[in-house]
Amino acid sequence: MLVDRSRIHIALQRSGRLSELSRDLLRESGLRIEAGKNSLSARAGNFPADLMFVRDDDIPTFVSDGACELGIVGQNVLEEFALGSNERGFDVLAELGFGQCSLRIAAPERLNYSGPESLARQRIATSYPRLLRRFLDDRKIEAEVVQMKGAVELAPRLEIATYICDLVSTGATLEANGLRPVDTVLKSQAVLIRTRKPLDDERKAIADQLLSRIDGVLATKESKYIMLNASEEALSRITALLPGAEAPTVLPLHGRPGHFAVHAVCQENVFWETLQELKGRAHPPSSSCPSKR
Ligand code: ATP
Ligand code: ZN
Repeated sequence: MLVDRSRIHIALQRSGRLSELSRDLLRESGLRIEAGKNSLSARAGNFPADLMFVRDDDIPTFVSDGACELGIVGQNVLEEFALGSNERGFDVLAELGFGQCSLRIAAPERLNYSGPESLARQRIATSYPRLLRRFLDDRKIEAEVVQMKGAVELAPRLEIATYICDLVSTGATLEANGLRPVDTVLKSQAVLIRTRKPLDDERKAIADQLLSRIDGVLATKESKYIMLNASEEALSRITALLPGAEAPTVLPLHGRPGHFAVHAVCQENVFWETLQELKGRAHPPSSSCPSKR
């Protein structure tokens, strides 16, 4: 099949923890995706992009080879792949804020763990042998890495290994298997990657257009829309409290001389910290109404 040079190709996880969230991000970026759960590929109805639904482990290969110009994959899979290849074939363009998890070392509950030196000469089961090996080498620990494709939590019970190194988000699976996390090898989330293979102008322009849309979606997600009422004396103190905000809109309140409505877009990371303080300073606080955008 000839590659259609007037479209870009985006590699996404076919089914799993990242698949719906990846599609949602593209939908929020304006792409119409009508593919059902079992499709292997789909054409965006209103944008020159084809989506390729694959195993997440294959996404770094597809993007590095240039078969897909863009891809969405967990940093855990990406870094494990990168440690096994001589040349980096992709660039990370954005952290996407979903698929958060950590690659952690876990030990049976009864075992004492007093730092990485406890791992010396032990067997550790994992599906991430390169990331684990790097963690051990960085700390000059010699240990035996036992590679497993899945069900790593069973290894201690089956006496295949003493420790495991696996992805954890809530820790419930570990707990259900009598294990507890003792160290962190990598913190991970889903990222957007682009091939390092050169793109022709047409596809570069399409990729850039999609990237700027995705950037827009991410920026909106990270921001909150704040609305509150404040007296004139409080206004300058309030605006000073909004470092992440663009210039707020200040409107006089009809029928309440000396009182104003303040509307501002504020970065999420400053939002929760300043909210309490804002409430205290907006006088009178009667109708202060911070709301999520
Ligand atoms: P595939 O069939 O595509 O190979 P998989 O079984 O390898 O799927 P999933 O379990 O769907 O993969 O996980 C996909 C990604 O989701 C992981 O690589 C990781 O980045 C992220 N993730 C988030 N939380 C967790 C978690 N608790 N356990 C495993 N992965 C998680
Ligand atoms: Zn996988």
